[in-house]
Amino acid sequence: MIVILKKNPNEKQLENLLDWLKGLNLTVHPSQGATHTLLGLVGDTSAVDIDLLRALDIVEDVKRVQEPYKNANRKFHEEDSVITAGGVSIGGGNFQVIAGPCSIETEEQICLVARQVKEAGATMLRGGAFKPRTSPYAFQGLRGHGLDLLLLAKKETGLPVVTEIMDLSQLPLFDEVDVIQVGARNMQNFELLKELGHTGKPILLKRGLANTLQELLMSAEYIMAGGNSQVILCERGIRTFETATRNTLDLAAVPMLKKLTHLPVVVDPSHATGISWMVKPMAIAATACGADGLMIEVHNDPKKALCDGAQSLTPEAFQDVMNSVNAIRPHAYNFSKEFQA
Ligand code: PEP
Ligand code: MN
Repeated sequence: MIVILKKNPNEKQLENLLDWLKGLNLTVHPSQGATHTLLGLVGDTSAVDIDLLRALDIVEDVKRVQEPYKNANRKFHEEDSVITAGGVSIGGGNFQVIAGPCSIETEEQICLVARQVKEAGATMLRGGAFKPRTSPYAFQGLRGHGLDLLLLAKKETGLPVVTEIMDLSQLPLFDEVDVIQVGARNMQNFELLKELGHTGKPILLKRGLANTLQELLMSAEYIMAGGNSQVILCERGIRTFETATRNTLDLAAVPMLKKLTHLPVVVDPSHATGISWMVKPMAIAATACGADGLMIEVHNDPKKALCDGAQSLTPEAFQDVMNSVNAIRPHAYNFSKEFQA
């Protein structure tokens, strides 16, 4: 980090600044230019409040040289992280497909879809029990009962399960859940992220509707700073001016995230497009550009789905997507080799 001081800084204020920076365990390297003095800060600057520094009377400007996230940063952890949930590993060349309905509706539905997606090659089962819905009058999920049904499907098929938490108070119900999902709407629920940092569970962190990749990585950092390094990132589309699709799938996020972080990156083409026929081309593209996995919504009868039927695939359509994805896999862009070189 570089601090550019204003001309002729007040000596007392400069002394206070230097003491404060040293108190943060940073080494300060001053250099005198023709008009301004620069301070080079060496050490872990992730805890420095850049806005506070910028607001000081004697400071002209501050430039970050290093990203404000450390645990998630590829620079400090060159090798891809491999995260294992319920015996299934993702990252570092391990590609996984998480599939299942938007919401868990009945025991028959979740167990049937679980068998069908497993048969088609999915390696993890998804299903929402706590649903973040735009309308308070829409189906809100079966909540605790939904989790019980999801665990029945896990028992029946052996598939590890991924499901969304919406509030800290729900955490005790997630003991047997393999991967806890933080949805787009909760990406910056910092209290929730902090608490998940104290669980030993893998976390699937979805990108917020209007969040930058740096903000996504800072949210991952919240979880990791608490001691839980098992974070899987998910690109699920962002909100733009385009209305033809539910969201705009930012596939450039995949190579960018793979460069910036060692964490696995999965893509959700279902929520990204909101349209079932678009899931296949986007799943193929996401696989080709180096994603570590996919999350796809599948329903035994999409027209009757209680949530997100328009973007849900039938089991047959999902099988077709899996065939294409499997054909692409050997040709997919391989980031591990690039970053481990
Ligand atoms: C979901 O995966 O069920 C979901 C609600 O997704 P998102 O948080 O990405 O909207
Ligand atoms: Mn959904």
